[in-house]
Order: sequence, then structure tokens, then C-alpha cells
Amino acid sequence: MRVLTLVADRKLELTALAAPLAPATGEVQIAVKAVALNHLDLWGFRGMAFARRKLPLVVGAEAAGEIAAVGPDVPGFKPGDRVVMYGALTCGTCKACREGRDNLCENVGGIMGFHVDGFARDRLNLAARLVIPMPDGIDWRDAACAPIAFATVQHMLFDNARLEPGETILVHAGGSGIGTAAIVMAKAIGCTVITTVGDDAKMAKAKALGADHIINYRTDRFEGAVRKITGRKGVDVVFEHVGAETFNGSLLALKRGGRLVTCGSTSGPTTTINLMQLFQQQYRIFGSFGASMRNIRESLAKMAGGLKPVIDTEVALKDFEQGLARLESRQVFGKVIVSF
Ligand SMILES: [Zn+2]
Repeated sequence: MRVLTLVADRKLELTALAAPLAPATGEVQIAVKAVALNHLDLWGFRGMAFARRKLPLVVGAEAAGEIAAVGPDVPGFKPGDRVVMYGALTCGTCKACREGRDNLCENVGGIMGFHVDGFARDRLNLAARLVIPMPDGIDWRDAACAPIAFATVQHMLFDNARLEPGETILVHAGGSGIGTAAIVMAKAIGCTVITTVGDDAKMAKAKALGADHIINYRTDRFEGAVRKITGRKGVDVVFEHVGAETFNGSLLALKRGGRLVTCGSTSGPTTTINLMQLFQQQYRIFGSFGASMRNIRESLAKMAGGLKPVIDTEVALKDFEQGLARLESRQVFGKVIVSF
């Protein structure tokens, strides 16, 4: 079978290996059908310092596949079942895991494709408790966007920021994988969506996706534009993941008592904030990372109900690096998919 490994920073290698042995007790064997790319893959590819990992490492953090074999003591799965995989090796027994807050597991063994071997291989064995069935009517590439892109946004908007119908939200980088997901999820509950993009072609695409107001952040200061659009009030929620370049402007774009939720810092991880502004304006700031298994199920249910991820490009496994380059270039509108 084919395996794509990171052998050094910025160096991927596609090799042939023997398929895994029969799945052990409690495990299933999965034939991977699609992997979706995320900024997490880029961080790993560049050798981001915080990754406690050993190379070579099988890449791929978000995927969908088909059950190929079932080990002993695995009720509920059979060969041919279509599934997505939870991408972190949680313990399943700590308090956070027992309460369904999987992304706060106290003994997490690593993020797959980042710290430990991931999904960019034809087959793998995985604990069945980390496998989530796909409802009917979803194709592989869409399903592959459920575990991280859709579920992360679901967790940010609804568990953390508690976005309500009728509220106004600013979605940064509306052309990104999670930005496009945030636009469609917020529109689906009747929010007013303001989004930022970096060029005019993306403005038209964001409009077509349902965004109500689109700001080209290269030609317009987004915080000023947001205050104008909202009649100087500001938005209820800001969906942040850009980081240093936008964070202070994002706070300025919030109304009093507004909520900012962030899951990334693509443009840089440090900034200073005005604490007087923070407490006087009664802002609430949520750090959000990953999602729970429940969020993945909720995401798949939304997809089955017709809410589709935006797919920018599909590449073959051997062209994984081209997919990463496309992400890195910031030219994407939606998700990059690696098809098997
Ligand atoms: Zn745990």
C-alpha cells in the first residue's frame, strides 16, 4: 500500500509498504478514501517547533474512509461501512473524555498526522471508538471535511461563541476552509455575515456563498468597514484565525459584550491587547482548538441536511505537496482534498 511520510522539514516521501495486519481487539481497519488539508498540515510540513514528534511521520490529519475489516469485540461496524475518523489519540477514560470533551483529553497521545502517524496511507488500523459513521448522501470529499474543518467551526460557533439566529458575525478570511464553513453555518441559522477576503475574485465567491457584506482587507480597513456596516455598533461575534495582523482590529469590530472566538494565528502568534478595552467593553474571548466527537456527528448531520463544504481543489496523493502549496499561497477558496 502507499504511504506518504514527512521525512524531514518540507520533505515528503511516497513509499510502498505492506498493508497492516488484521485489526486487533477493539480496532477496525480503514481503507482511506479522501484526506482534507488544513493549516495544521502546513505547520507540520514547515517543522513548527511545538510539534513533539518523531520523523518519519505519516501525514494527513483529516479523512474519510471505508471499513475494510473489523477486529474482535467491535460491535456496530462491518466491512463496507463509510466512516470518518477522530484525528487525535484520546484516552477515552479521563474526566474530559468521559464527559464528551474529547479535545480536552488529559492524556492525549497526539494529533494524527502532526504528532503521530496520520491518514495519508491506503489503509490503517484504528480504535473503533475513534471512528464515526457517515450518514447516507455524503460523498467522500465532503465527509473528509467533517472531522476538522466543519467540526472545529461547529465547536467555535455553537459551543464556544454560542452564536444565535439573527446575530451579526464577522468571519475572517472567508475564502479559507474554515472561513467558508463558518459562512455557510452562520447563514444556515439566519445570521448576518460580514466577511473579509484578499481579492476581488474571492469577493464574488463569498457573495455567492451567502455572505451579506464582503470586505477586501487589502483595500479597506476591515474594522472601519464593520463599524460602518453595523451603524457603529459592532458585531456580536468575531470568528478569528488570522492572528497578529487582525486581532486588535477584531476587538474593535466587536460590540460591547461581544464574543471573539479564535482557533488560529496564521499571520503570527503574538500581539498586545488593551486590557482596559477588554474589561470596559466586556468582551468575551474564547480560545478553541479542535472539536469533540459530538461536533463531528453534528457536522455530518448538517452535511446530510444539505450544508456542503466548499471544495477548492482535488489533488492525487502524490501531489499532496502541491495541495499544501496552494494552501500556503492563500489563493484557495475552500478546502483542498487529497483523493485516493
Ligand atoms: Zn482522555
